Amino acid sequence: MKFSDRIQRVKPSPTLAVTAMAAQLQSQGIDVIGFGSGEPDFDTPQNIKEAAIKAINSGKTKYTPSGGIPELKEAVVKKFKRDNNLEYQLSEVIINCGGKHSFYNLIQVIIDDGDEVIIPSPYWVSYPDMVLLAGGKPVFIETDISTGFKIKPQQLEQKITSKTKAVVINSPSNPTGAAYTRHELEELARVLEDKDLIIISDDIYETIVYDGFKFFNIANISEKIKEKTIVLNGVSKTYAMTGWRIGYAAGNSDIIKKMDILQGQSTSNPTTISQWAAVEALSGDQSVLDHMLVAFDRRRNFVVDGLNNIPGLKCYKPEGAFYAFPDCSEVYKLKGWSKVSEKYKDDYKSSSLCAYLMEEARTAVVPGIGFGNDNYFRISFATSDEKLKEGLKRIKEAIEKLV
Ligand SMILES: *Cc1c(COP(=O)(O)O)cnc(C)c1O
Repeated sequence: MKFSDRIQRVKPSPTLAVTAMAAQLQSQGIDVIGFGSGEPDFDTPQNIKEAAIKAINSGKTKYTPSGGIPELKEAVVKKFKRDNNLEYQLSEVIINCGGKHSFYNLIQVIIDDGDEVIIPSPYWVSYPDMVLLAGGKPVFIETDISTGFKIKPQQLEQKITSKTKAVVINSPSNPTGAAYTRHELEELARVLEDKDLIIISDDIYETIVYDGFKFFNIANISEKIKEKTIVLNGVSKTYAMTGWRIGYAAGNSDIIKKMDILQGQSTSNPTTISQWAAVEALSGDQSVLDHMLVAFDRRRNFVVDGLNNIPGLKCYKPEGAFYAFPDCSEVYKLKGWSKVSEKYKDDYKSSSLCAYLMEEARTAVVPGIGFGNDNYFRISFATSDEKLKEGLKRIKEAIEKLV
């Protein structure tokens, strides 16, 4: 079978692959601790579930307009006003089948063959592949622990060409947890202000920030910047609703209209029941988020300290999201490393390390290469304190064997 060129440009999501491998071992009775998946371990709050049940019982189970029900668009508009001080019309908002789908649809309607999309690296695994699928070219800006994984204005300036169609800002970031301050975004905005390009602001982790960090959106800087910016967000991470599949986008109404046309010829509307649940999530009591944040913060401190106590690992303390992204390049220099690299023979060191940790420590973590950097791996700390404690102990023992 000859498959399309399009699909051959795309690789499977490494985070989903690690999660699937851990699940397979677990089903064989092997006790693997999964730190792979990027989703909160909390249950969806009760008020949101009840809104969904009510929707089912009142017959809200049919097609809706492809771009979403007006009630949810209205709730999104109010959310932007309330939380971000951003004003949008209903025509500037679309509801999609998850935040991933919002990015997908956006890229499909703006990218032609050869168009460039600037992506700070390490990046969320899906950005480059979705750009490649559309025929575009991902252009990476490398960052590392020394700059807190943030890009500098000069780096951005250097990468912009006549082919640049869009720039991605994901703050707080998956996988690094780095979040840009208002001042840092103002500096980037100065570079972007007069350029003919679209700023894609993926705000999916906006509410998951620590130590009093104030989330800020680049669209707040000026009307000129706001006009260029498409804000992407969703309910998956904030409200522990990953399985409900609701994301949304806001910005230029011409772009939103095209995304709606694409959606109308592909998925049609996001699940009706989930849309009503999302209305409650965005408009209902927001205090349900507080206990999740307290737990995430406790786990963040525990994991970062724990990782920094393991030989060869150096971990930056994330300002947001629920991932730790330790630098493991010193592990590759340990005495026992040659045995690991011989045994797993993977093209990438981070993949060999993760295979070793899966087998030796029975812990599932994601190789950094999937996020664009082989010197790291990713641990999701959106899991129970007990699992984190046990998992870190196992990782420590496994890596100490290499010393
Ligand atoms: C999880 C995530 C999303 C959206 O996920 P959905 O489940 O599709 O809503 C978007 N961007 C980043 C960076 C993410 O980590």
